Amino acid sequence: MLLTRRAPAPGTAATSPSSALVSSLARGVARAMPTMDRRAFLRRSGLGVGAGIAASELLLVRKARAADDKPAAAADARKVEVKRTVCGHCSVGCAVDAVVENGVWVRQEPVFDSPINLGAHCAKGAALREHGHGEFRLKAPMKLVDGKYQKISWDQALDEIAAKMKELRQASGPDSIFIVGSSKHNNEQAYLLRKWVSFWGSNNCDHQARICHSTTVAGVANTWGYGAMTNSYNDMQNAKAAMYIGSNAAEAHPVSMLHMLHAKETGCKMIVVDPRFTRTAAKADEYVRIRSGSDIAFLFGLMHHIFKNGWEDKQYIADRVYGMDKVREEALNFWTPDKVQEVSGVDEATCFKVAKIMAENRPSTVVWCMGQTQHTIGNAIVRASCLLQLTLGNVGISGGGTNIFRGHDNVQGATDVGPNPDSLPGYYGLADGAWKHFAKVWNVDYEWIKKQYAQGMMTKPGMTVSRWVDGVLEKNELIDQDSNLRGLFFWGHAPNSQTRGLEMKRAMDKLDLLVVVDPFPSATAAMAAMPGKPEDLNKNRAVYLLPAATQFETSGSVTASNRSLQWREKVIDPLWESRSDHMIMYQLAVKLGFGAELVKNYKMQKVKGMDEPEPESMLREINASCWTIGYTGQSPERLKAHMRNMNVFDVKTLRARGGIDKETGYSLDGDYFGLPWPCYGNPALKHPGSANLYDTTRHVMDGGGNFRANFGVEREGAPLLAADGSHSKGSDLTTGYPEFDHVLMKKLGWWGELSEAEQKAAEGKNWKTDLSGGIIRVVMKNHGCHPFGNARARAVVWNFPDPVPKHREPLYSTRPDLVAKYPTHDDKKAFWRLPTLYKTVQDKNAEIGKTFPLIMTSGRLVEYEGGGEETRSNPWLAELQQDMFVEINPRAANDRGIRHGDWVWVKTPPMAAMPEFKGLKVKALVTERVDAGTVFLPFHFSGRWGGIDLAPYYPEGAMPVVRGEAINTATTYGYDSVTMMQETKTTVCQVEKVTA
Ligand code: SF4
Repeated sequence: MLLTRRAPAPGTAATSPSSALVSSLARGVARAMPTMDRRAFLRRSGLGVGAGIAASELLLVRKARAADDKPAAAADARKVEVKRTVCGHCSVGCAVDAVVENGVWVRQEPVFDSPINLGAHCAKGAALREHGHGEFRLKAPMKLVDGKYQKISWDQALDEIAAKMKELRQASGPDSIFIVGSSKHNNEQAYLLRKWVSFWGSNNCDHQARICHSTTVAGVANTWGYGAMTNSYNDMQNAKAAMYIGSNAAEAHPVSMLHMLHAKETGCKMIVVDPRFTRTAAKADEYVRIRSGSDIAFLFGLMHHIFKNGWEDKQYIADRVYGMDKVREEALNFWTPDKVQEVSGVDEATCFKVAKIMAENRPSTVVWCMGQTQHTIGNAIVRASCLLQLTLGNVGISGGGTNIFRGHDNVQGATDVGPNPDSLPGYYGLADGAWKHFAKVWNVDYEWIKKQYAQGMMTKPGMTVSRWVDGVLEKNELIDQDSNLRGLFFWGHAPNSQTRGLEMKRAMDKLDLLVVVDPFPSATAAMAAMPGKPEDLNKNRAVYLLPAATQFETSGSVTASNRSLQWREKVIDPLWESRSDHMIMYQLAVKLGFGAELVKNYKMQKVKGMDEPEPESMLREINASCWTIGYTGQSPERLKAHMRNMNVFDVKTLRARGGIDKETGYSLDGDYFGLPWPCYGNPALKHPGSANLYDTTRHVMDGGGNFRANFGVEREGAPLLAADGSHSKGSDLTTGYPEFDHVLMKKLGWWGELSEAEQKAAEGKNWKTDLSGGIIRVVMKNHGCHPFGNARARAVVWNFPDPVPKHREPLYSTRPDLVAKYPTHDDKKAFWRLPTLYKTVQDKNAEIGKTFPLIMTSGRLVEYEGGGEETRSNPWLAELQQDMFVEINPRAANDRGIRHGDWVWVKTPPMAAMPEFKGLKVKALVTERVDAGTVFLPFHFSGRWGGIDLAPYYPEGAMPVVRGEAINTATTYGYDSVTMMQETKTTVCQVEKVTA
């Protein structure tokens, strides 16, 4: 097999037949030319052209040739280029070589040299070209007129939207508009959108991460420093045991499984814990079925056996962890095996066996996804997983860590630098100091930004994407801002990924302004055009659809789940009338009066004859501002050199073994692939990035580190800084220490090591706000210390509702006995600007299991992604999954007279208030994957509503191929007590056979 070093595991690569044909041709010729890399080969040979091109694509090729006025037969007149990009679907970050002939994307290849995907793609990645050229895309701006979408010009659309925004601002203030950004924006666009909303004068912005991993970010960051995956997909090859709990990676992150399967080949024990026997479970050595939402009981059940048998890492805990004694007490004395079984359904022997596997096969890792995060207690569940790993001393260790797989391709980057309601880019927060830092970087007056905001609102976190519906519908006197929401942008976001769809439809109808910016019109377009209740409809409502370009029609960086950044080259120019998101942001900013301020630091470039900010300039501004998470070392030049030289990076360590970039002379040696953040200091410091976080066995200039000092020096007499002797390799300070600022630098006598210019910039600053990077340079390079200090991880997070994680039953539970023992929180007022109910809802629904006896949970399918609009519009993928379905156990099906393949109604509590809505009409998939008390539905479908096809309500020519009921039309109320994460994984339903 060609390139066996990076060969995918059997059965994991999926390509179209045409792709396979050209692959084999290419492989044959490549063997004859061993010194030519695959990319150069494809470009020079022209093999990408002509082979396997479908009829519709040939039309595009002919058009391109005609446009060039060159004879089709003249092969040497063809301009064949290979553009390197990254899959736009999930956070694994698989690289793609796109073959482009005369401006037309004609075919694609997985990048065999990529250390991440090793030449493999899943079905979605293999069908990517269709996403770029997708014929069901939105092709021109549109406006909803008398219930139908009509084409309008860009000028008209932008003029009318800007006028309406100004009108709403005048009447109700800037906070009356909410901007839902995208986790599919590249880093530069996500960053620009946060800046854009700030210049508009509001913190009412958010994106998908709120409803996929916000509980992870908050819970994990509050435990040890950074709220991200600690290790990498690749590093999982070093694990001796791996526990997937709340992750179905085989479908949600398919190519990541390559690394796990390699680990298994060398003896790694794989455990899958899930309410459903998933495709990932099918690969496991040990499958454990738990009751949905009971993870805390199970995880403490494991810790019970670990402490009872003395398997904990005592030295590690003594040196690097604060508060573990309280966890130990809880695990040993409260979570006895009988209680664990009562709550989670897992018996003592199974817990013991899993605990033993994890303890005896160290380093052992834990993987989680939305099965853990999307709960009212999500923040506590993820912390319980962190506690398990701290107990075993598995964090900061290669092969260990918490491998938290993010969802969308750039949900990690959009979280790091994008439109968050509670923080400026880089997790700087919203305090005055943060605003002043960014005002300086943005080169605008702090007072000018302040004047854009309503008084007192600049430092107050905005609403969240999970609750914009309540921002519209809630009584005005109960919300913590002047006006209700009146305008909404869905800027690359699927409405069907949010819960409470029935109420969302009402909220959409009440708005004054609704703008959808997307390559595909999304379910929003159809929902907005579908008639609702007449009393809900705002007669003045204006609805616009703007065609955004895909990520293949622009360039920019994207951050994979393992924190590596990759640079996407532009594959093709924006098709039809589409424009890049950053061009649209700029053009709207001009209309709103802050265009010049928005792009002050950027070079502008021409695309289709119009100005847009250059992505490289925007990345340089990110480099100049986001010191706190080390987004400063990844210059465009370094990232591009990495993309050109993927072959030099080791598959297990991600580290370059030598290598000089021919184009720039840059030495890649020692860099980790994609400079995984934190990549500290200026690019000139040449920090290699951090493949595994908190690893004390390495020098900080070698990617090493320790836990972050973010929570003080001591608490109640106990030290929060690391113990003596616990530090990263080669550190001049051999004990715990706080973060560095100008005062500490002077006290230690290190200030004189800064240059004069650096001293000037660093005076009065800390390592995060010193724009010279001088403090970081001296601390790391000269003294081997970590700029963020050296502290203990917190087993007790005293600022959270449950400092030691507690199990609490979901608001809608089928177990009233457990609700009595493990009740939810009290209601909250003005939580992220809105009242939020817990106990009131749970008490009201104490007997809900009598009417709705089945636990309803949801998840992903390999063929589709997110809300699914783009993948369901792709004919190659649409063919694979044509119907929305519910998985139901044979026992539950038989008791209801349901047979495999029957149409059924899935009914849930919100429908009681809306009797005209009959339920979700879906097909029954009778299977033992779920137990008799649980049903599973995938979350990628939309386009049907209570049995009705929404086809008439999509814009003409822009309807997805496959439509189905969205599970979230039927999901219930419930939000995490720290982050407003929505509850999607544990609610209740009834299933009935469709009889007429
Ligand atoms: Fe890779 Fe994810 Fe794209 Fe599949 S969807 S090809 S696993 S990045």
